[in-house]
Amino acid sequence: MNTLRRDITTAASTPNLLDLDRAGLAQFFLERGDKTFRATQVMKWIYGQGVVDFAAMTNLGKALRADLQDSVTIDLPEVVADQVSDDGSRKWLLRLDDGNCIETVFIPEAERGTLCVSSQVGCMLNCSFCSTAQQGFNRNLTTGEIIAQVWVAAHALGSRADDNRVISNVVMMGMGEPLLNYENVVRAMRIMQDDYGFGLSKRRITLSTAGIVPAIRQLREDCDVSLAVSLHAPNDALRDELVPLNRKYPISELLAACKDYVGEGRRRVTFEYVMLAGVNDSDAHARELIRRLEGVPAKVNLIPFNPFPNTCYERSSKSRLDRFFDLLNRAGVVTITRKTRGDDIDAACGQLAGRFRDRTRRRSHRLGEHQGTQA
Ligand code: SAH
Repeated sequence: MNTLRRDITTAASTPNLLDLDRAGLAQFFLERGDKTFRATQVMKWIYGQGVVDFAAMTNLGKALRADLQDSVTIDLPEVVADQVSDDGSRKWLLRLDDGNCIETVFIPEAERGTLCVSSQVGCMLNCSFCSTAQQGFNRNLTTGEIIAQVWVAAHALGSRADDNRVISNVVMMGMGEPLLNYENVVRAMRIMQDDYGFGLSKRRITLSTAGIVPAIRQLREDCDVSLAVSLHAPNDALRDELVPLNRKYPISELLAACKDYVGEGRRRVTFEYVMLAGVNDSDAHARELIRRLEGVPAKVNLIPFNPFPNTCYERSSKSRLDRFFDLLNRAGVVTITRKTRGDDIDAACGQLAGRFRDRTRRRSHRLGEHQGTQA
């Protein structure tokens, strides 16, 4: 898997073909004086067949293969750990070229298989209930590093691009805020959708955001995949505390952008709501949430809080969660409760941590415990 890793010394100058979507690849071949159809030929090998060795791309002609071998890479991360949960969820710890590590999680269900993909090394949003936030932010992932997560999982699961029973859905819900790495995430989602990429329909790709309002509006123009929004509170005072980004983009602006995103059709925005005991889970919070979501095509996803070391929060009790669910449901709000998956291998929501150096240094006092595998 690792034979084609980029030589560190040439990393800056050696193009990685995974960074390019179909249009980018076509341009790349044109600039080399070749034909644009090479783009789909190469994509079929990489994503359709799972072949990343140029020598094996037999319809490319010997000279071209040798030339590609010398001048470009298909850069895959190293799989450092591959863990399977008791419930069948699977988590890969992947080491990137610069030594940073990220995590990708596969969640199999009866009717579908969902891959949870990371968009950044760490996160700068500092949501108070999320373990990724505790580690701070290092950098954006490249397009290649995002799409490679799908490639590695598909490869490990033995799935093929034309077999959408294995990875049928992708959620941009791993580490990081995808809309703060906009260009690379959109390009990667284009490759996920491309018939010569992973062939997933827009509906089956979900981007989860804490609510970067201008980027939500832009996304509608560029790549209108399914949208999930981490709401977690029905009023600004509480949301300011849980999701500090709310101070910049308060709930009213966020909900207006969500309404515009789905427009008049039948689509809905999924609102994620992590259930924190005694914080956001009372009957009054439920009623306030119902009022806030009036007129918004919404689906609410209640997420039992997943604890992590040093957190000050606790998961709401089952009876509290059921009561909250009932109140929403009876008010006609489409509501589901997310089943906690993979928590025995720390693969559940908010437990993804990876290992990396916090470039922001905001939380340098915490770094000691995470320095094990740094570059
Ligand atoms: N930055 C994006 C995507 C990453 S978070 C976003 O905010 O949506 C993915 C989801 O996991 C979000 O809904 C997030 O709120 C939720 N989450 C984070 N920490 C959690 C925890 N400890 N327990 C349960 N869900 C959590």
